[in-house]
Amino acid sequence: MTETMDPVTKAVAATVARYRKDPHYILQMLREIQEACDWISPEAVDLLQEALRLPRTKIEGVAGFYAFLYTRPRGRYRVLFSDNITDRMLGNIELLDYMCKQLWVERGKTSEDGLVSIDTASCTGVCDQGPALLVNNCAITRMTRARADEICELIRNKVALADWPREYFLVEDQIRRKDVLLGSELEPGDALAAALARGAEALLGEVKASNLRGRGGAGFGTGLKWEACRNAQGTTRYVVCNADEGEPGTFKDRVLLSSYADMVFEGMTLCALATEATKGMLYLRGEYRYLLDHLDGVLKQRRRLKLLGSGILGRPGFDFDIEIQLGAGAYICGEESALIESLEGKRGTPRNRPPFPVTHGYLDQPTVVNNVETFAASCLVALRGGAWYAGIGTAASAGTKILSVSGDCALPGLYEYPFGVSVSEVLQACGALDVQAVQVSGPSGMCLSALEFARCIAFEDIPTAGAFMVFNYSRDMFEVARNFVHFFAHESCGFCTPCRVGTSLLKKLMDKLNNGHGSPYDLVEIDKLNRLLQSMSHCGLGHSACNPVLDTIVKFRPAYERRLQHKEFEPAFDLDRALRKARQMTGRDDAGAHFSTSSGEHE
Ligand code: SF4
Repeated sequence: MTETMDPVTKAVAATVARYRKDPHYILQMLREIQEACDWISPEAVDLLQEALRLPRTKIEGVAGFYAFLYTRPRGRYRVLFSDNITDRMLGNIELLDYMCKQLWVERGKTSEDGLVSIDTASCTGVCDQGPALLVNNCAITRMTRARADEICELIRNKVALADWPREYFLVEDQIRRKDVLLGSELEPGDALAAALARGAEALLGEVKASNLRGRGGAGFGTGLKWEACRNAQGTTRYVVCNADEGEPGTFKDRVLLSSYADMVFEGMTLCALATEATKGMLYLRGEYRYLLDHLDGVLKQRRRLKLLGSGILGRPGFDFDIEIQLGAGAYICGEESALIESLEGKRGTPRNRPPFPVTHGYLDQPTVVNNVETFAASCLVALRGGAWYAGIGTAASAGTKILSVSGDCALPGLYEYPFGVSVSEVLQACGALDVQAVQVSGPSGMCLSALEFARCIAFEDIPTAGAFMVFNYSRDMFEVARNFVHFFAHESCGFCTPCRVGTSLLKKLMDKLNNGHGSPYDLVEIDKLNRLLQSMSHCGLGHSACNPVLDTIVKFRPAYERRLQHKEFEPAFDLDRALRKARQMTGRDDAGAHFSTSSGEHE
């Protein structure tokens, strides 16, 4: 019967059956249908609606929310250039424009023969090996003009991705400094056996005594979180690993999942032991789709070793298993309540808090959400005890932190240090010279000037989820801030007006300054927008959207002063600039074709 079905019907039927018609898996179903059919056609939505008996608007609402779900046909080869500031510094846009020209396709569009589409995506998590891109979900690193030529040729000749040179897809770990976590050589089951010998209560006690704090940036006490979940009322408890590593400049979770996946899954299982949870979910960012088969393989092996499933390590009643769900290109899903919404198959809109996930999380049940690194670190605590772990780092920040170092340095990659390490020590280790600024913890974090390099990476001084982007004196810090502002405007989920409109206005103001129409009036407007976003936004994205601008205005003032060319207010609209396309179409660029020379631009 299925052999006679058309491909769309077959794909929908297969995915609906695999997820047992459970509407909580709509996002996964849409993603898999797209993988099978290249895009989500109206016909696929019809079939899904019929099979799941859901309103069409609900399915379309989910499909429309995620950047990596496409409701229009795309090219057979889908090229997405990573567009973090570090990729820009390495020339990603020049390479993108070059490939567009070679393949006769406009950026953001599909070629007329349906062969290829080329666009940008937010940071894809390989900033240490950029410029990077994704082709049909597979990461390609270290792009050069020569490699772009080779890729264009492969695409023109319609060579299947499986036959492309393997070295294109090499994503290296680039671990530059190991400490207790990356240097540990735990065997699968070591930490679990130690925890079982102690007992669940004692494990919880050790995690509390360790002062292990969440590595996603917020730094909430891990032991307290696990205890609150254990004590919460509910029928089922869940453990969720937040592997939606979307903060531009962060890539440590990519390496942990590639080379330390057993530790991550073992940490989740420890959490299940401490909280009596029975189900775990790892939410993997869509950009890391290429890690899925490897992670599934590790899970299978753990089931074989009795480290997952029923009666783990022969302990009756200790039942726990883990499934992987994939995100689809929405930065906001890194916020834990938005992530839970996404796991439930909805748009990733942050929830009102309280209640918090520890009492009302996945399906309204008690849920622990921790970062990949937090779970991995909990294995060390289970094995060597809380007091040992608390002795590493500083009094308020126990343990080590893995930093994702990228930008202007000789040795980008991962550096694990005990908390308390100074910024200058990291800069020295990574071979950074002539450093003007370091952006710690991504666009929502802090921009440090050279005067602050004696400060320390620690929750009590500079808290971070891990990103450490280095900028030397050749970089224009206004451009860095403008890139981050564009990122926030692109990633605002649109749920609340202050953020949806505010981030867009902020982007326009920064573009206005960039286009030579800036006046002191615009800085006052930025200040007003900041106050609005701080006080009226629903979640942290809106609260922190102005951070990169505010930091750089104070610390790199000349970069802004240069752009304040007018004393009085200037409108942003520039008629001469707006006529650029018409000039291109008519092939004219003489003085007579310009309305004015105010923008000073000739193509
Ligand atoms: Fe969405 Fe922005 Fe509102 Fe957060 S602040 S809910 S990202 S629109």
